[in-house]
Amino acid sequence: MAGEPQDDCLFCKIVAGRIPATIVRETETTVAFRDINPQAPTHVLVIPKAHYETAAVLAAGAPGLAADVLRETQAVADDEKLDSYRIVFNTGSGAGQTVWHAHAHVLGGRGLEWPPG
Ligand code: ADP
Repeated sequence: MAGEPQDDCLFCKIVAGRIPATIVRETETTVAFRDINPQAPTHVLVIPKAHYETAAVLAAGAPGLAADVLRETQAVADDEKLDSYRIVFNTGSGAGQTVWHAHAHVLGGRGLEWPPG
C-alpha cells in the first residue's frame, strides 16, 4: 500500500537504519543522503520516509510530502553552497529509474549539459 514501508525496498531499509548511508539531512518526513555512485561532486538523494514507488505516485497521493521533498532539495543545495544545480526525478524504467522508492537526485558542483542523456 502506498506510504507503507516495504521489506524489500532498499531506501525503506535506509530510512529504517537497516543499511548504512551517509545521511546529510533528515526531517520528520524526509531523509537526504549521498548517492553511492556519484555523478557529480555533489550528488545527494532526497527521499520521503514513506514509501511511494515513483515521483508521479508521490505527487498524486501525497502532494504535501512531495513539497517536503522539493523543499529539502533546496536545503541540500544551500548546505552544499551550490549556485547552479539540477533536480532529477527519474520516473519509470524508460527514464532510468532503478530504485522504486521516489527520490530526487540533487546534482551540482560541475557544469551540467542539456539535454541530458
Ligand atoms: P539510476 O540508477 O539510473 O540513477 P534511479 O533514478 O532509480 O536510477 O536512482 C537510484 C540511485 O540510487 C542511483 O543513483 C544509485 O547510485 C543510488 N543508490 C543505489 N544504492 C544506494 C545506496 N545503498 N546508497 C546510496 N545510493 C544508492
